[in-house]
Amino acid sequence: MKFQYHQFKYGTDNYGVLVHDTKTKETVAVDAGNSTGYLNALREMGWSLTQIWITHHHGDHTDGLSELKKQTGAKVFGPKSIESVDVSLSEDDQFEFSGEQVRVLETPGHTLDMLNFYLKSEETIFTGDTLFVMGCGRLFEGSAEQMYNSISKLIELPRETIVYCSHEYTLANAKFALSVDPENIELINRYKSIEITLKNGLPTVPTTIKREVQTNPFCRFGDIAIRRKLGMIESSDSSVFKKLRELKDSF
Ligand code: ZN
Ligand code: FE
Repeated sequence: MKFQYHQFKYGTDNYGVLVHDTKTKETVAVDAGNSTGYLNALREMGWSLTQIWITHHHGDHTDGLSELKKQTGAKVFGPKSIESVDVSLSEDDQFEFSGEQVRVLETPGHTLDMLNFYLKSEETIFTGDTLFVMGCGRLFEGSAEQMYNSISKLIELPRETIVYCSHEYTLANAKFALSVDPENIELINRYKSIEITLKNGLPTVPTTIKREVQTNPFCRFGDIAIRRKLGMIESSDSSVFKKLRELKDSF
């Protein structure tokens, strides 16, 4: 990989990420939920910020934006719902970070303005609050159908794609996943390994599309064992997805 990645925690369970090119010295921050957290991370790494990519309008992703922009002069890319963005983006837009193409995917569901950023040359995507480790975002603004389409789009990416998401929700997600997919050996093993990871105070993020397709029920709406468990063998993919989201909401 050409770029360096620095992931750090802020707030209750948020992850921020900095991506840096050691050659050009360019650095991007994914989201800006907390200016102190981001500025400390930049200082710690000795990196200066050139871009900010905003995934969606929620405060835990944007509260530090104006301060971070003011302190660093970084150019802000994000959805048009956010006033202070310099470049507002929508589906399939492309722009450059340090000489590499960044592709924008709209993934509505959690919010209507959600954007994900795909760095093809690094096989890395930043999924905000859309795709989580073994879970997906709650539906605050969009419909289950929209989230189903968003997740479907993400799992079409190459299987080796690295996925950075914005929250450490993995343990709760894994417990729910086991409740609907209890015989899945990969899930059982992954549950054991994340318990150890978390016990050691380490992050479970990033993940990969491959691991999510193997263990995340929201990526497994076509799976026969999950369908049998839900009594939905004949149902459409999107109605299985909707049922999973409803079950998780009341889990
Ligand atoms: Zn959010
Ligand atoms: Fe969030």
